[in-house]
Amino acid sequence: DKGILKMYPASPDEIGTVTDIARSMLLQVETLTKQLKHQATTDFLTGLGNRRALMEQMPIIRAKAARPEEAVSLILFDLDHFKRINDEYGHDAGDNVLMAIGEAVKDHLRPYDYAARMGGEEFCIVLPGADLAAAESVAERLRHAVESRVVEPLPKGRITGSFGVAQARPTERLQELLLRADAALYSAKDQGRNVVVRAQP
Ligand code: GH3
Ligand code: MG
Ligand code: MG
Repeated sequence: DKGILKMYPASPDEIGTVTDIARSMLLQVETLTKQLKHQATTDFLTGLGNRRALMEQMPIIRAKAARPEEAVSLILFDLDHFKRINDEYGHDAGDNVLMAIGEAVKDHLRPYDYAARMGGEEFCIVLPGADLAAAESVAERLRHAVESRVVEPLPKGRITGSFGVAQARPTERLQELLLRADAALYSAKDQGRNVVVRAQP
């Protein structure tokens, strides 16, 4: 039924205008969709990925490996006594610490590494092509960088983290790998914090 068109016949000009409006609305939807996708996968405080993004990236990273047996390792770390930092210096200072640690993490990434803030004061870095020993040395350098980071008004050396490193087994799922890294991280806390511990292979 073209009743409405018969009543209001559109001039070529009007059709052009409607087409332009439709096109610009489509562009807006595309832009908004991109923004939402970015917000859903980015940690707003550090600009790193978030846990969801890591879950999405891991299969992509592993699919990109040249050979299925190519090493992939993971570093999981958690800031030490962060609650005390918040309590002593305030939540804003705590946020500044998190941002500074995000920067320290970025400083240590190679182009194909992937880093995420998993939530709170816990960070994760995926290192494609790195075996356990290589991941351990990256973690050790990062541990030192965290310890050396100065964030006003905290005294130097006040920020430290505990690290767990694990190398993925050939068909291991991310969840399993994270559990092993987390056990190593827990053991690092147990050993007095500010240390790197390897997961059981
Ligand atoms: P541990 O060395 O055992 O890890 O002790 P902790 O104090 O770091 O651990 P706990 O889990 O007890 O406390 C974590 C604190 O991190 C509590 C929470 O308020 C704080 N926190 C979590 N997310 C944020 C954030 O986005 N900003 C700030 N400023 N603090 C946060
Ligand atoms: Mg902590
Ligand atoms: Mg924690």
